[in-house]
Amino acid sequence: MPDTTLSVTDRTRHRRLREQGSTERGDLDAILAAGVICHLGVVVDGDPMVVPTVYGLDGDTLYLHGSVASRSLISAPQATICVTVTHVDGLVLARSVFEHAVNYRSAMIYGTPRLVTGREEKLAGLRCLSEHIVPGQWDYARQPSKKELAQTTLLALALAEASVKIRTGPPDDGDSPDAALPVWAGVLPLAAAWGDPEPDPVLPPEIPLPPHIAARTRRPIG
Ligand SMILES: Cc1cc2nc3c(=O)[nH]c(=O)nc-3n(C[C@H](O)[C@H](O)[C@H](O)COP(=O)(O)OP(=O)(O)OC[C@H]3O[C@@H](n4cnc5c(N)ncnc54)[C@H](O)[C@@H]3O)c2cc1C
Repeated sequence: MPDTTLSVTDRTRHRRLREQGSTERGDLDAILAAGVICHLGVVVDGDPMVVPTVYGLDGDTLYLHGSVASRSLISAPQATICVTVTHVDGLVLARSVFEHAVNYRSAMIYGTPRLVTGREEKLAGLRCLSEHIVPGQWDYARQPSKKELAQTTLLALALAEASVKIRTGPPDDGDSPDAALPVWAGVLPLAAAWGDPEPDPVLPPEIPLPPHIAARTRRPIG
């Protein structure tokens, strides 16, 4: 039976703002499923680098890909990396500047990724990436050639060491002396959504918008 609780390690133990921490595996899965991009944190030649990049998911594995020339991806299999996925759900506007906050869902995953070299797993991992971003696109578009596959690095990161934090609700100063101030307080929600598809100007007009892309139009992200 799959674990429903995230195991806490010394690295993933919440220290500050602990009440926002969750150890529910379901919360991790929901945050990762709803994300479009992640940030890959890795030390390259002694300096930290935090690189925005897309990702894919397959059960307990997160896939990252990029050019074989990518410095962050070359360094990653030899190092501990930290991948984050963040959703901003609203701005929490308090009476005091100090109590301002963000409503969010975020996940952090630590680990040393594995370089995927086998052709079959590489294609399967790249399919996960493509399907995570636009379900249906892998089978619709032309798939990678041998040369393109050779130009692509794919890393597999286990979801074994992960943490989640979630903040919801109004500002924290509603029961403080500041509540008497004549200052508006509350939450300004933020919701991202896909827009209307914009065809490539050189696209032959007889090529229709495929249903799997049309289905995303104006749908919320995250
Ligand atoms: C959009 C957004 C905006 C934020 N803005 C601020 C801000 O302006 N100032 C501020 O102090 N904090 C902010 N936070 C919270 C911040 O991410 C940290 O949780 C918090 O600052 C504690 O950091 P720390 O360095 O003390 O980590 P620690 O509490 O020492 O972290 C210990 C472990 O807890 C886990 N962890 C910590 N933070 C997160 C997280 N966000 N998501 C998942 N796991 C986590 C990690 O595994 C980490 O290794 C924000 C969070 C988000 C998502």
